[in-house]
Amino acid sequence: MNLLSAFRTPLLVAVLAALAGFTARPAAAEERAKDLFGSKKLPAATSAQSIGFYSKGCFAGGVAIPMDGPTWEVMRPSRNRRWGHPAMIALIEKLSRDAAADGWPGLLIGDISQPRGGPMMTGHASHQIGLDADIWLTPMPSRPLSMAQRESMSATLMVDEKTHLVKDALWTPQHTNLLKRAASYAEVERILVNPGIKKKLCDTVKGDRSWLRKVRPFWGHDYHFHMRIGCQPGSPDCKAQEATPDDDGCGKSLAWWFTEQPWRPNKNPDAPKARDLMTMANLPRECRAVLDAPGPASVEAATYHGGAVPVAVAAPEPEAPSVPATAASGTTGLPASVNAFTATPEIGVPIPRPRPGN
Ligand SMILES: [Zn+2]
Repeated sequence: MNLLSAFRTPLLVAVLAALAGFTARPAAAEERAKDLFGSKKLPAATSAQSIGFYSKGCFAGGVAIPMDGPTWEVMRPSRNRRWGHPAMIALIEKLSRDAAADGWPGLLIGDISQPRGGPMMTGHASHQIGLDADIWLTPMPSRPLSMAQRESMSATLMVDEKTHLVKDALWTPQHTNLLKRAASYAEVERILVNPGIKKKLCDTVKGDRSWLRKVRPFWGHDYHFHMRIGCQPGSPDCKAQEATPDDDGCGKSLAWWFTEQPWRPNKNPDAPKARDLMTMANLPRECRAVLDAPGPASVEAATYHGGAVPVAVAAPEPEAPSVPATAASGTTGLPASVNAFTATPEIGVPIPRPRPGN
């Protein structure tokens, strides 16, 4: 073993580093953002702020939607993804009430965000800045679901996997009304649904069709829809998404989804996903401060109960955690293999591109 290869031996490097008095903290480049954000149990107790982009960012001042409400139930509670920007949480609560008035029995709420957002250990490229939420297309059952049932209950697949068309026996006018209600809010910029669901709306919605503009076809989203709101006031570092085109999206761009092209098998299904590669250096550097900020005293202190949005009060006043001048900037590019990630395919008219892993 020559000297150079000796230095490549991690253990030896660690020993030398310890002898030299370096801390054991790994280099920033080795810190996987999903591990750091995935382990946070509480939000950053500061004013609400989304930082970065839907698929590359984090947020502070998050609040949780209660596990149960009169018109909703949180599904998969063990994931601890019922956190969002306060405006998002308030809107979900409002949607649950409005939908109930429209005849939908109540919302089953899927993933929103982790307490401080950021990339997740599993699933979802987006949902990172507290402005995305998944709502099941299965209505809330009349009997309350136990916590165990919420972990295990399957959702209803609304779309035939071969034809990519909605299963007509399952689709009801109430499903259409729920999506229309969600699209009616000014804050909602985009609703993602399976192409089969988009086609069903295109084929059946009469009268006002202006809201169809917000409903965008995307892979998956066949048992839930994804509601995305825009950057909220007080978030100067929140990066807005491209506006949706003005038309109803029922023309050529939808037709593409019913060709064979979007459904070709992923040639490289085992390739690492962006979330597996993202380090703190890939996120806006303010996300380091979000990670380091103190949390509230309890989950309850940051849980939304209607009316005024709670501001979680941390035990100590959060100091502005210092960001070293040498910290890698958020503009650092991801490895070339995942550059396509930064321009999320959820934007605009779908164009042919390799199918993402999920
Ligand atoms: Zn989603």
